[in-house]
Amino acid sequence: MTPPHLQIAIDGPAGSGKTTVARRLADRLSLLYLDTGAMYRALAVLSLRERVDADNEPALLRLLEVRPIDVRLDPRSPMGFTVLAGGEALAEADLQANAASVVVSTIAAHPKIRERMVAKQRRIAELGPVIMAGRDIGTVVLPDAQVKVFLTASIGARVQRRREQFARSGTAIDAHALYTELEERDRLDESRANSPLQIPPDAHVIDSSDLGIDDVVSKIAALASAAA
Ligand code: C5P
Repeated sequence: MTPPHLQIAIDGPAGSGKTTVARRLADRLSLLYLDTGAMYRALAVLSLRERVDADNEPALLRLLEVRPIDVRLDPRSPMGFTVLAGGEALAEADLQANAASVVVSTIAAHPKIRERMVAKQRRIAELGPVIMAGRDIGTVVLPDAQVKVFLTASIGARVQRRREQFARSGTAIDAHALYTELEERDRLDESRANSPLQIPPDAHVIDSSDLGIDDVVSKIAALASAAA
């Protein structure tokens, strides 16, 4: 079923450039924008604070009941949106911290957690023309999106991008540790039983290893105008 307005789904592994590309495209095409990874990261931050084990789905669900995770879309905010946990806005530095990255894929593998996040993401998509970045947007969250992109890049390029991202926020991070973390997250995200990271059959695959952000943005903008 064709959605009532434009939906662009961008999926791909960590560090493939999804969020930077999606945000720039949202500005260029005046779309709502959400990086869905931030919602799973918010629960990771809460679990670390409250010492809830990443394997314990019932306890994580209770945490979500007490501190519901919500999103406020706001193109002027640092991330392009704000993630709230029980009404408290979470800082980008906490969401992106290595401690959250290490547990987030275990948390995101729980089916009932995904059900709740997906329901919220679909409600957000009803608000207007939208671009969403994640792992299951084209396959599960917005299966009827007019434009689906699977953005990928070599592991070397992805490690380098994540390092630059950390460097900009003043954090030095060891390349080897980053490599191991990205590979482990890829493995968990691709092998989970529920909504694994996979290429939607109707997606355009773009390898961004040797492309600049603006080149990728232009490619997807062209796909969007062809779909309109
Ligand atoms: O995109 P980002 O690297 O911030 O995502 C963090 C983690 O959240 C991913 O490694 C994945 O485990 C999970 N995620 C997901 N589904 C999404 C977005 C993110 O499972 N749609």
